[in-house]
Amino acid sequence: MDFALTEEQTAIFDMAHAFGQDRIAPNARDWEAQGTIPKELWPEIAQLGFGGLYVSEETGGAGLGRLDATLVFEALSMACPSVAAFLSIHNMCAKMIDTFGSDDIKSRYMPGVLSMDTVLSYCLTEPGSGSDAAALKTRAARSNAGYTLNGTKAFISGGGYSDAYVVMCRIGDAAGPKGISTVIVDAGTDGLSYGALEDKMGWRSQPTRQVQFDDCTIPADNLIGDEGKGFGYAMAGLDGGRLNIAACSLGAAQTALNMTLDYMGERKAFGQSIDQFQALQFRLAEMEIEMQAARTFLRQAAWKLDQNAPDATKFCAMAKKFVTEAGSKTVNQCLQLHGGYGYLADYGIEKLVRDLRVHEILEGTNEIMRLIVARQLLAER
Ligand SMILES: Cc1cc2nc3c(=O)[nH]c(=O)nc-3n(C[C@H](O)[C@H](O)[C@H](O)COP(=O)(O)OP(=O)(O)OC[C@H]3O[C@@H](n4cnc5c(N)ncnc54)[C@H](O)[C@@H]3O)c2cc1C
Repeated sequence: MDFALTEEQTAIFDMAHAFGQDRIAPNARDWEAQGTIPKELWPEIAQLGFGGLYVSEETGGAGLGRLDATLVFEALSMACPSVAAFLSIHNMCAKMIDTFGSDDIKSRYMPGVLSMDTVLSYCLTEPGSGSDAAALKTRAARSNAGYTLNGTKAFISGGGYSDAYVVMCRIGDAAGPKGISTVIVDAGTDGLSYGALEDKMGWRSQPTRQVQFDDCTIPADNLIGDEGKGFGYAMAGLDGGRLNIAACSLGAAQTALNMTLDYMGERKAFGQSIDQFQALQFRLAEMEIEMQAARTFLRQAAWKLDQNAPDATKFCAMAKKFVTEAGSKTVNQCLQLHGGYGYLADYGIEKLVRDLRVHEILEGTNEIMRLIVARQLLAER
């Protein structure tokens, strides 16, 4: 067993880290204040191949594995987890189109998706269904023109900002997951509108809005894959999405820990720098142990997904739960070790505490992660 990154993986991490430090970190607070990420950033990121990280090379993507992709998200989130997580959502949608979409849909969408002139949003959650995603109600009725969509999606990252929306909706009469299909809706389509900007605790640089469909007509060939299989497509996207979100927690928490190590060497109390108090040294050690455990576990789960291991979904769920909670605990502890200064925006820690909190909620809450693990355990008994 070899736990070391390959030379190529180290190069991928370094490239993403350098881009993040150069182009994202200096702007992250401004973008948060403005409530948006400049659209010009995305084609720049796409030039590194990050618009289709695990889209096949045949389609023009980078063709990376899941483990490689987690390195990109870990490295980018060292600059800003909100920007990195937004890129993860786009990549999750890109992979769904590449894996399940027809040649026609791929030829129409993938060039823009890969260059990130077409930024994608993922629309699963509704006001009445979040964890119980298969209870969704948005419906696409077959019509002469294609499909006519009606319904509301809630909490959509990139709502009103993205160029196209990957939408899980009901087609036909089947109840539950079997009635769910996936379609693409372009921004600007008649009948597509957006709710007000959500005022959020973190991820504030990402616009989040409700997305509303009122007799929104789309062509029949905007169906991804087959009718009735959309729930499976949506869940397949989520395994990788969960790894990425975990990687975003990891990278941001590592930044906080690095900043805290520096700060504790400078800050004096009772005649010495605070890194000399053994109680605080032990806290540093605990954070380091937890971060290393989180990193190893995340990479193991990513490796499982790369291998198509039968227990990959369970490992992705376990890693998502463990790493996002370790990340939140770490940034919160780092804030504490900065004393009052940790609470001030200028020191950069409080933003990380706010940004990471949502990683315990989305891409499946951490309760749902426990549910996935427990079900699997009981089934294997
Ligand atoms: C900032 C932000 C961005 C988001 N972006 C997107 C996006 O781009 N696209 C998208 O589709 N969605 C998005 N979401 C939605 C997110 O995925 C949901 O909020 C999440 O899945 C939880 O759903 P819910 O909010 O309806 O909570 P609920 O499902 O109502 O859950 C409420 C509580 O009950 C718990 N719970 C529910 N069922 C069970 C159970 N069976 N056993 C134990 N506990 C349970 C939950 O864990 C939670 O603690 C986003 C959310 C946020 C906050």
